[in-house]
Amino acid sequence: MATDQNKFQAIISHCKEYGFIFPSSEIYDGLSAVYDYGQYGAELKKNIRDYWWRSMTQMHENIVGIDSAIFMHPTIWKASGHVDNFSDPMIDNKDSNKRYRVDHLIEGYADTLPEAEKTALIGRMEELLKENDFAGLKQLIEEKKITCSVSGTANWTDVRQFNLMFSTQLGSVAEEANEIYLRPETAQGIFVNFLNVQKTGRMKVPFGIAQVGKAFRNEIVARQFVFRMREFEQMEMQFFVRPGTQQEWYAYWKEERMKWHKSLGLNPANLQYHDHVKLAHYADAAVDIEYNFPIGFKEVEGIHSRTDFDLKQHQQYSGKKMQYFDPEINQNYIPYVVETSIGLDRCCLMVLSEAYEEQDLSTPEKADSRVVLKFPVKLAPIKLAILPLTKKDGLPEIAQELMADCKKNFYCYYEEKDSIGKRYRRQDAIGTPYCVTIDHQTKDDGTVTIRHRDSMEQERIPLASVKEFVMKKIAEQGFMHN
Ligand code: ATP
Repeated sequence: MATDQNKFQAIISHCKEYGFIFPSSEIYDGLSAVYDYGQYGAELKKNIRDYWWRSMTQMHENIVGIDSAIFMHPTIWKASGHVDNFSDPMIDNKDSNKRYRVDHLIEGYADTLPEAEKTALIGRMEELLKENDFAGLKQLIEEKKITCSVSGTANWTDVRQFNLMFSTQLGSVAEEANEIYLRPETAQGIFVNFLNVQKTGRMKVPFGIAQVGKAFRNEIVARQFVFRMREFEQMEMQFFVRPGTQQEWYAYWKEERMKWHKSLGLNPANLQYHDHVKLAHYADAAVDIEYNFPIGFKEVEGIHSRTDFDLKQHQQYSGKKMQYFDPEINQNYIPYVVETSIGLDRCCLMVLSEAYEEQDLSTPEKADSRVVLKFPVKLAPIKLAILPLTKKDGLPEIAQELMADCKKNFYCYYEEKDSIGKRYRRQDAIGTPYCVTIDHQTKDDGTVTIRHRDSMEQERIPLASVKEFVMKKIAEQGFMHN
């Protein structure tokens, strides 16, 4: 697989240096696989979250959003199957004590093989995973003489299951405390509120419930920046449909979600579907949308046809009816569900990977380069930088006036320090699509220079039309449904 570890490392460094993403608890040497978003990262993440939320709710009259709690009744996770099934097969190397997810270990080895051999090996692995054949998986690892990257040996333990849920105690007195879990997905908060929303919102099947929120998984292999974290954010939507129509809706959402990704301005060649061979315990069809990260094509979103598994389980465990009366066919039934589930952090990393560019701008006279983040305008943390050429001659006053007017409509940044060239480069590095410079000519004829981030071209436009110019650019990208 063509990967670019250097580019990946460069993106991680850039994110830290320019206030996008910091390792958590850094002054205490960090906390493994946990990250904090800085001033620009938080803004980028919010813009992606808002775009998803509005694409789902505002743009679909039959989808509403909720915000359920992270803590939930512990029986929910029994009913959903997470207590018994939410685990990954793991294997430890006895010499290095390093633990691997079995599929990652085999895939890593497969990447070093010629294409035909790789496909055959992955195919065998997927069959064994599907059968939960742990002895067979170990045999495969031994047969291929796959070694540990740390010890270099093939001295492996047996393959075992490892549950990924974090647990904690609810209640103040230890003896009375109940063990509860930090939710490993947001979906269950939707299922248990299905009837509340359906009844109070007078929703008619087919309809959807969307939610964005934190999820927690005790990931074993967590060394890929925000791609795999122990605390992360999901954006999920459960679409409730009449039994028998799930394949139709699955096909619809599969296509619709791919369109959404393309609407982020991603190169279509960097996106692909990956159909699941091993289906989760709840699914009758599943596909991933994968993005070509610098570390290779990897999952960003899953679309799953979850049947009536979850609602049926909750009906059984809670003893409460989860049925819907369909007035069109005069029947009661438990709806089937098609789910779209995307990781917000992976989505941020995808947008960052697509946007990141190192450019050599050297001329025969002078060596020069820049790093630019080519974010779509709608996702850029800052839309406009307002830069007076000098700190005097009344230029800052004009700039501040423009700032006061524009900041009501979109996020602006004001800066008067350093040369204009340096200021442009700093804005390029955080992905600001437009910079406006107020200079002495502004005082004479009321015009300013607008600089375009990607082409670095500059044009003069009236000061009075700056706000409208930027708002038009934001609106032009609008929604995928426009
Ligand atoms: P993977 O196979 O990579 O572990 P998954 O199939 O377990 O992912 P889902 O349970 O389908 O993932 O979760 C839906 C989405 O949540 C994923 O597509 C991904 O974007 C995101 N996600 C899952 N686990 C993590 C994590 N540990 N860190 C960041 N995002 C995650």
